[in-house]
Amino acid sequence: MGLIFDIKRYAVHDGPGIRTTVFLKGCPLTCLWCHNPEGISKESELMWSKERCIHCKTCQNACLQGALTFSDDALHINKNTCNLCTTCVDVCPSQALEVIGKEMTVTQVIKEIEKDTIFYDESKGGVTFSGGEPLMQPDFLYQLLKACKEQGIHTAVDTSGYSSSDVLLKIGAYTDLFLYDVKVINDRIHKETTGASNNLILKNLKELSRAGKEVIVRFPLIPGVNDGEKDIGELGEFVSSVNVKKVNILPYHKAGIEKAKRLNQNPFMCEPPSHTRVTSAKKRLEECGLNVTVGG
Ligand code: SF4
Ligand code: SF4
Repeated sequence: MGLIFDIKRYAVHDGPGIRTTVFLKGCPLTCLWCHNPEGISKESELMWSKERCIHCKTCQNACLQGALTFSDDALHINKNTCNLCTTCVDVCPSQALEVIGKEMTVTQVIKEIEKDTIFYDESKGGVTFSGGEPLMQPDFLYQLLKACKEQGIHTAVDTSGYSSSDVLLKIGAYTDLFLYDVKVINDRIHKETTGASNNLILKNLKELSRAGKEVIVRFPLIPGVNDGEKDIGELGEFVSSVNVKKVNILPYHKAGIEKAKRLNQNPFMCEPPSHTRVTSAKKRLEECGLNVTVGG
């Protein structure tokens, strides 16, 4: 049994062809710019949409735990008393409340994946396991990957690489492609912006490459964090030195802001990088001998 927070069908940005992307809940990092903040907590949680809410307070009156209160037009959810009974979700007339995170068995997830087999065959696509950080649920992920490979389905794992090397190499046995985030090459800035050192991440990238696994490095380009010429050059040189050939630049976008607000978090805000900045980052990485694409 594992905790899933979304399954997206017909995804075209998470590896080759048409794919089904399965999002596993829980992440050991806390990247400021996270575009899936609902995937960070490894527990299920209640999310409220201010835009949809009509402030009828039906939810507050229905909650037997007294977990909901309104102040300044915002709904506050007491996570200590909320037992995720979903009563408020059911009574809300405008679908402004949602429980994020659903327990599913391997068989249930595979059933969802199987619905799209025809698209995988025609487009040379497959399944991508993402998150959160899918390696946070290593046994569940391993069983899912194994079940996919037994059916001949192409598998990709979208990971931050922040996990034990043993776990990473074990799931590598059933992983055709790693989409591997290298967020910030400067360790001090990495710690400040993700909450952890990048030492393990860089070490694991070397291990995967040494093991002959196919890897595409994903580099989120975040203005003011990792878009300096020197940082990009150092990142390119490192990736090149460990014999990984492909880098995918993911320019920052604002998709995570609204979701963070709905989770009562303070969202990180900056403007997306300009076209000129993205082009210049691409050129700098290409100078390191890398094959660089932009966008997922
Ligand atoms: S899920 Fe249940 S306990 Fe939690 S806030 Fe809603 S009604 Fe209250
Ligand atoms: S029941 Fe729904 S619409 Fe009404 S106050 Fe609660 S969240 Fe808002």
